[in-house]
Amino acid sequence: MSTARTALETEEHQALRAAVAALGKRYGRDYMTTVIREGKHTDELWAEAAKLGYLGVNLPEEYGGGGGGMAELSIVLEELGAAGSPLLMMIVSPAICGTVIARFGTEEQKRTWLPGLADGSLTMAFGITEPDAGSNSHRITTTARRDGGDWVLTGRKVFVSGVDMADATLIVGRTEDARSGKLKPCLFIVPRDAPGFGRNRIDMELHAPEKQFELVLDDVRLPANALVGDEDAGLLQLFAGLNPERIMTAAFGIGMGRFALSRAVEYARTRQVWKEPIGSHQAIAHPLATAHIDLELSRLMMQKAARLYDEGDDIGAGEAANMAKYAAGEACVKAVDQAVHTLGGNGLTREYGLASLITASRVARIAPVSREMILNYVSHQSLGLPKSY
Ligand SMILES: Cc1cc2nc3c(=O)[nH]c(=O)nc-3n(C[C@H](O)[C@H](O)[C@H](O)COP(=O)(O)OP(=O)(O)OC[C@H]3O[C@@H](n4cnc5c(N)ncnc54)[C@H](O)[C@@H]3O)c2cc1C
Repeated sequence: MSTARTALETEEHQALRAAVAALGKRYGRDYMTTVIREGKHTDELWAEAAKLGYLGVNLPEEYGGGGGGMAELSIVLEELGAAGSPLLMMIVSPAICGTVIARFGTEEQKRTWLPGLADGSLTMAFGITEPDAGSNSHRITTTARRDGGDWVLTGRKVFVSGVDMADATLIVGRTEDARSGKLKPCLFIVPRDAPGFGRNRIDMELHAPEKQFELVLDDVRLPANALVGDEDAGLLQLFAGLNPERIMTAAFGIGMGRFALSRAVEYARTRQVWKEPIGSHQAIAHPLATAHIDLELSRLMMQKAARLYDEGDDIGAGEAANMAKYAAGEACVKAVDQAVHTLGGNGLTREYGLASLITASRVARIAPVSREMILNYVSHQSLGLPKSY
């Protein structure tokens, strides 16, 4: 399948795409399916992608990264996804956590975490969602109080991905402003084995090696240096991590959509039940063409968001990253739906491996920010319409 990507990408980007696509091809869907069936993690692919410099491509060179940005990291995730073997934890570990620590962490935090996040020997999960807050992250109640030189965290999180694989979780909590009494968002690095840090796996209908967890923080005592960056600039720091998360979720959706579409096109070219292959019927061909167009358009917006972000325009990147996440989530859901339909009964067999993508693709519509919340953002922020909530 041809993709009109040359005009916008540098030769280095195109070379990166080709190299990651080759790695993806060596692993591919069969590898992923086996890992999931055996209840394992994608350790081999994670390690090899890290060794080739792909996982830390966005992290600063002085801490072992590639010195690139979201433009490069999103290429890596998209291409692995297009090969059928996406690494979901890339959205969290190098993109959110790596970015936040690189931009706002102390020198000690950078030295402790960034080389490991870049070479894949360390992984970090990210927990913001709470049972009673959901889309309304202003409502989170996980609270950090000072106790001598320590911090003590109490609260609950839900749907946090990959906590079992991660050495630590970057937890979004709140501290009380001594002057105003208001709760301010703050980010804490919580090691996996910290006393009082409990996790329960949530039983999801998702065919993926990364699992989701409910977290219970029961008076988790952390040293002063667990706080990332500045206590008074928590919101700014948080947003700096959320834009990469949206850009990477767009890459995840585009990759999955491309994978499903390529399977469907291959099938439509060869499956014959009348005189011609089913791909000659426009009722089959046109929706596939539409899916291809939507995925290409989403990539354009993702590239715009990545470029703005990498150039340091956090505000401009915010709008574009939301739009890219929205467009890619919708394009992914539609591409998967049409791919399943193209295969008729085979679309629902385990052998062809597309049915499980029906639920997986919905993740791109819901997380990390839902379709409706992006439409709220665009109505209010971009169009200036009154806020509805
Ligand atoms: C597979 C998966 C992995 C995840 N990984 C992580 C992770 O690693 N870390 C983490 O912190 N979280 C994670 N999440 C959580 C994810 O970010 C949330 O599910 C998402 O933010 C939505 O929150 P919610 O599920 O509570 O839905 P709710 O907020 O309860 O929303 C339910 C529905 O109501 C709609 N809605 C809510 N408010 C409005 C409104 N004002 N206007 C219109 N519609 C509205 C929503 O769009 C949605 O359709 C993950 C979720 C999934 C499914």
